[in-house]
Amino acid sequence: MAVIGAGAAGLVAAAFAASRGADVVLIERTPDGGRKILISGGGRCNILPSVLAPERFVTDSPAHVMRGMLKSWPLHEQRAFFENDLKIPLALEEDSGKLFPKSNRARDVRDGLVALAGERGVRLQFGTSVTAIEAGAAGFTIATPTGPIAAGRVILATGGLSVPATGSDGTGLAVAAALGHKMIDTYPALTPLLGRDAGHAALSGVSLNARLRGKAGTRTIETQGGFLFTHRGYSGPSVLDISHLVARKSDAAATIRAQWSALDPAAWDREFEAPSALISTIVARHVPARLGERLMVEAGVPTDRRTSNLRRTERISLVGRLTSYLLPWSGDEGYKKAEVTGGGVALDEVDPRTLESRRCPGLFLCGEILDVFGPIGGHNFAWAWATGRAAGLGAGTP
Ligand SMILES: Cc1cc2nc3c(=O)[nH]c(=O)nc-3n(C[C@H](O)[C@H](O)[C@H](O)COP(=O)(O)OP(=O)(O)OC[C@H]3O[C@@H](n4cnc5c(N)ncnc54)[C@H](O)[C@@H]3O)c2cc1C
Repeated sequence: MAVIGAGAAGLVAAAFAASRGADVVLIERTPDGGRKILISGGGRCNILPSVLAPERFVTDSPAHVMRGMLKSWPLHEQRAFFENDLKIPLALEEDSGKLFPKSNRARDVRDGLVALAGERGVRLQFGTSVTAIEAGAAGFTIATPTGPIAAGRVILATGGLSVPATGSDGTGLAVAAALGHKMIDTYPALTPLLGRDAGHAALSGVSLNARLRGKAGTRTIETQGGFLFTHRGYSGPSVLDISHLVARKSDAAATIRAQWSALDPAAWDREFEAPSALISTIVARHVPARLGERLMVEAGVPTDRRTSNLRRTERISLVGRLTSYLLPWSGDEGYKKAEVTGGGVALDEVDPRTLESRRCPGLFLCGEILDVFGPIGGHNFAWAWATGRAAGLGAGTP
């Protein structure tokens, strides 16, 4: 059997298929595989979350199917796989709840998975691009520039469209469609947003914790966490997690409102009741000074304004900007910067236990190619590991 794609899902799939005694060839376009693992988590690889949040995953397919697939390999077993089988001790980053290799080296994860596949007898065929796959009565014919490869079963683990420089250019999605699969329209997810406010570009480098509330058509989402002003727009975990609302072109234009601190309108009103204090000083206690100054300018509050002479209209305008700021986004950074791809192969077209295609028997699908992504924090690897293992066991079982 053949596994196409030696990314997170494909490496795990190949190792588990081989553990069932299957003769496995792993075909990978790049010279070494796992390129996304190498750049993940800023080169440290946020390998898993400490707590899985299935309700925060996004799919247009039936949510219960997605949850079942995710839970097929419980988090503690995934963790044990890395710590015991791969001998990669993990460490918890307390404030973010993310797990990283203790070494803080993503390379250890990639190299460990490649080595495990090799130890289990997987034949690694790097530097080979699959251009098409044909299904016939006797199995599959896999087209490559160096000639066809025959396989009885195929696991398609080619990822989506995010960061094409890592090897995932969408060929796998086209292959799945050609083999009869229905595609949920793809879109970039976990990608920074572009801004159209020159004043905000001047805030580049300002970072804070924010709560974002997004709405597009009937879709709503709330995110919380780091927010970063960049010279092109907005980034940070809270922005990445909400970005798909903007990126989904099929939705009505999204609105995103930011609350820049833990204070709600009533709490700000109480703050501004302090006797004769400078407004700018009060604001700077809760949001970075440069952002506070900018919000005061936009709200028409003079910089020397004190609580004693703050006008009602000024207070309402400022509190509105502090707690429900309409973010002037103008677009998104697209697949080039997206950590994952939204959309893909519809989940109801695969057997949720084995991940075998219902459209094309003998074909198995796993990882980012499927219509699922999770929030940042290790959830997307959890998905890739769980579905990779399920597909490997499914395809590897005689
Ligand atoms: C910058 C960045 C940081 C990230 N950080 C994290 C993180 O810290 N934690 C986390 O959980 N997630 C993170 N992610 C997301 C995570 O990397 C992905 O969800 C995961 O790698 C998807 O795994 P996959 O195997 O499905 O796809 P991929 O990793 O994309 O692997 C697909 C593989 O298939 C190969 N391939 C594609 N087409 C062909 C073809 N036609 N022929 C042969 N080979 C082919 C590709 O070369 C590639 O090696 C990050 C993503 C990015 C881009």
